[in-house]
Amino acid sequence: MKHKILVIEDDMSISNFLVTLLRAENYEVISASEGRLGYHLSLSHQPDIIILDLGLPDIDGIEWIRQYRNLINSIILVVTAKDDHPSKVEALDLGADDYVLKPFSPKELIKRVEAILKRVYSKSQKDSFLRSGELILDLKKYKLFKNNDEII
Ligand code: CA
Repeated sequence: MKHKILVIEDDMSISNFLVTLLRAENYEVISASEGRLGYHLSLSHQPDIIILDLGLPDIDGIEWIRQYRNLINSIILVVTAKDDHPSKVEALDLGADDYVLKPFSPKELIKRVEAILKRVYSKSQKDSFLRSGELILDLKKYKLFKNNDEII
């Protein structure tokens, strides 16, 4: 399964660089140069990860997270300048999942994306089982086990 990534970045050289880099790593990539367009694309495409630049022309990245975080399920990876420490902290407080500092190396960004996907997908696998004493409920298959024997 190809993971989908949405890049929201107004600087076209950075955006093109990210799109090319991520496509080379076999991700499906879409991009937006403005925040509101990015929000609409995130609704229509349901990306696994949104790479969000905090300095956008139409809406501040922090404001973007504040307004839209609860309306989308995607993981938000913030890209921010190195000296902009308050924004980074605020972005995380508002529900961004991780951040990368500009300027970043291609390798660093790819590693960050891989780590996030690994973390999220291993977590969702664990979350599909509920345990209570001897009972295990498989939430994906809707089956109940007791001492590893299927009951329902
Ligand atoms: Ca920018």
